[in-house]
Amino acid sequence: MLVVAKFGGTSVGNAQAFKQVANIVHNNIKIRVVVLSAISGVTNKLIEIFKQPYNNRKNKCLDIISLHENIISQLQLNKNKITALTQPLFNELFIISKLTATKSLLDQLLSVGERLSSMIMTEVLKQYDVRAIFVDARNLIITDDYFGKATPELNEIKFRCQDKIIPLLKEHIIVTQGFIGSTAEGVTTTLGRGGSDYSAALFAEALNANLLEIYTDVKGVYTGDPMLIPNAQVIPILSFNMMERLSKSGAKVLHPDTLFPCVRMNIPIMVKSTFAPDITLKILANNCLLITSKV
Ligand code: ADP
Ligand code: ASP
Ligand code: MG
Repeated sequence: MLVVAKFGGTSVGNAQAFKQVANIVHNNIKIRVVVLSAISGVTNKLIEIFKQPYNNRKNKCLDIISLHENIISQLQLNKNKITALTQPLFNELFIISKLTATKSLLDQLLSVGERLSSMIMTEVLKQYDVRAIFVDARNLIITDDYFGKATPELNEIKFRCQDKIIPLLKEHIIVTQGFIGSTAEGVTTTLGRGGSDYSAALFAEALNANLLEIYTDVKGVYTGDPMLIPNAQVIPILSFNMMERLSKSGAKVLHPDTLFPCVRMNIPIMVKSTFAPDITLKILANNCLLITSKV
């Protein structure tokens, strides 16, 4: 059984949330691949950098760095080790922020968010005795060069995942990034806002996963946005068509492109809350069915 589990920004929004994710992964041996978003709010902050005049960009970088350092300081990680891992990424932020913005450079800048959260999570998982290994998604999710919303090259992704990930799975739990990829030439790309769900589905497809779990801050897919509509209800089982309509009409709980890899490979999806992960129902691996959690 191979489960790909994706954790969104709020699932790594603070130190407690990092620990909660580590608990979920530690307690479920079926989760073999962990796909992470940037810490909540970080992608927006990174986008802001290039909108600033040059003399203000350093402050924006420092703000992002202190947000990460704050969380790290509450995680009891080995200080020397985590500093050695994160410092090059903080330096990368400063270096890019001094340059003239291009679409390609913006993708490179945004990739720092997901690379940082997944690097920190790898170390937290190790504390929980999970044999976590950090894998850079840019070596696996190969795309065209449409920066900002690149299109994945499915055959190349499958080839690379089979070649590089399957051998690692024998001994390790893979920790990687959503949202980011690269061109065949190695230039960083992104899949569009909210694209981590889509990345997770691409990994699930390429690895022939049995299940894709999307962990977020709500207990499943609701009849409407539960943050805005207090009496919205969880929908226990949804068809592909219904979910497609919901996500295209703005239900950002699942990026609309997520469905296609799963339908192609008949992989069910479960949407679960990181903060109430036990709320669940049995899985029906029916073609085109999207299964959500039940309250
Ligand atoms: P993540 O950071 O985990 O990817 P998102 O913010 O992208 O999370 O998506 C989860 C959010 O989607 C919820 O907090 C909720 O406000 C919103 N949402 C909008 N429509 C729906 C819906 N129909 N069902 C569930 N959540 C929805
Ligand atoms: N971090 C990216 C974003 O905020 C991708 C994602 O969260 O899915 O859009
Ligand atoms: Mg999302």
